[in-house]
Amino acid sequence: MSDQTLNPFKIAQQQLDMAAEKLRLEPGLHEVLRWPMRELHTHFPVRMDDGTTKVFHGFRVQYNDARGPCKGGLRFHPSETIDTVRALAAWMTWKTALLDLPLGGGKGGVVCNPKELSTTEKERVCRGYIDQVGRILGLTKDVPAPDVYTNPQDMAWMMDEYEKITGYHEPGVITGKPLPLGGSAGRGDATARGGIFTVREAAKVLGLNTQGSTCAIQGFGNAGQFAATLAQEILGSKVVAISDSRGGIYNEKGMDAQKLVDFKLKTGKVAGFDGAEEISNEEILELDVDVLYPSALENVITKDNANNIKAKIVAELANGPTTPEADDILFRNGVFDIPDFLCNAGGVTVSYFECVQNAYNYYWEVEDVHQRLDKKMTRAFHDVYSMQKKHNVHMRMAAYMVAIERVAEVMKLRGWV
Ligand code: NAD
Repeated sequence: MSDQTLNPFKIAQQQLDMAAEKLRLEPGLHEVLRWPMRELHTHFPVRMDDGTTKVFHGFRVQYNDARGPCKGGLRFHPSETIDTVRALAAWMTWKTALLDLPLGGGKGGVVCNPKELSTTEKERVCRGYIDQVGRILGLTKDVPAPDVYTNPQDMAWMMDEYEKITGYHEPGVITGKPLPLGGSAGRGDATARGGIFTVREAAKVLGLNTQGSTCAIQGFGNAGQFAATLAQEILGSKVVAISDSRGGIYNEKGMDAQKLVDFKLKTGKVAGFDGAEEISNEEILELDVDVLYPSALENVITKDNANNIKAKIVAELANGPTTPEADDILFRNGVFDIPDFLCNAGGVTVSYFECVQNAYNYYWEVEDVHQRLDKKMTRAFHDVYSMQKKHNVHMRMAAYMVAIERVAEVMKLRGWV
């Protein structure tokens, strides 16, 4: 592959091009959608603990705000590039549209290695970024959230800096905040819970009874651990295999999800769990189970192993676990794949609920959050499924088509094209 094809922004544009062709999108509209509407590049000073000053480089991309304020995470990463941020901002535009949230898509990044920063230096990077980028943020303009190597404490500092600059309370300027500072109940497990709701709906349309069904989970962090406990609790699924970066385990009778989580938290690994045999991270993907949850890395289902996938449903909690060639193979083989930007959209949906509660200055009980999340995920699943049936395409293409059609519709209504 050439460098050009690996560029994430080029990939995002190609995905749009394919969906636009199927939708027969007007050329003018299609061209507008290929580009971010606005991007801010900043080079800001930060005082380091040793008294020296360093310049940090950051971005905020507002890809499209036709449907509402931009929404998307903020990453701190040493190899962050503007094209990665552009691609992620495009994907956020499609994701918010797919869930029918009244939001657009954005993304931000600072080029830095947070592991090399002290806590006080990290705080000053967060505040320095907001000093520059805050002018284009706001509850009605653009709302960041945590992403790779940023966390609720970082969001708290950023919100505080924003409020210091503006002089008024506006907690909804950022989501993923700690609970006492306006975070939403139910945010912790929202990604996995949303994914489980989509699996429940997929099982219904496929005529699969989830009670006593089997599942395998690759990756046992935030997404994977909640997927295990909630698959057991909501779907009545048996967790027969899990893995993490240090290896996998298998027990055909099923393993207690909470005990697995406790074991992982205590020992830092899943290998060695009582009564389970060890398997590799490659084998776990090819097990004969009802549902496979890739919940770790990108590009794990490829043209080399897609023909060996025996799961009836692949629920992509991870971002980008399936390559485009593998998508076609799974579709041909009748494996039902729930694409990442549908399956893992529970997180951004509860982030949106956080903004709504901040704007109300009134907070919901966790049960209300779960119920509203269920409604949003269920509706999005069936919108995609109907599109899939209508055009006989795989679920990922159908999801792009639903999302892009929605963004295009409001752009037309606004008279932008
Ligand atoms: P995490 O860091 O909490 O957990 C990642 C897990 O993957 C760890 O258990 C790690 O050991 C495991 N892992 C790493 N390398 C592995 C390998 N080679 N084989 C098997 N397991 C391996 O991350 P997370 O928040 O759970 O995110 C996991 C995926 O879900 C990512 O793709 C992320 O983008 C996606 N996602 C997460 C959220 C969220 O709210 N947490 C939202 C949307 C998407």
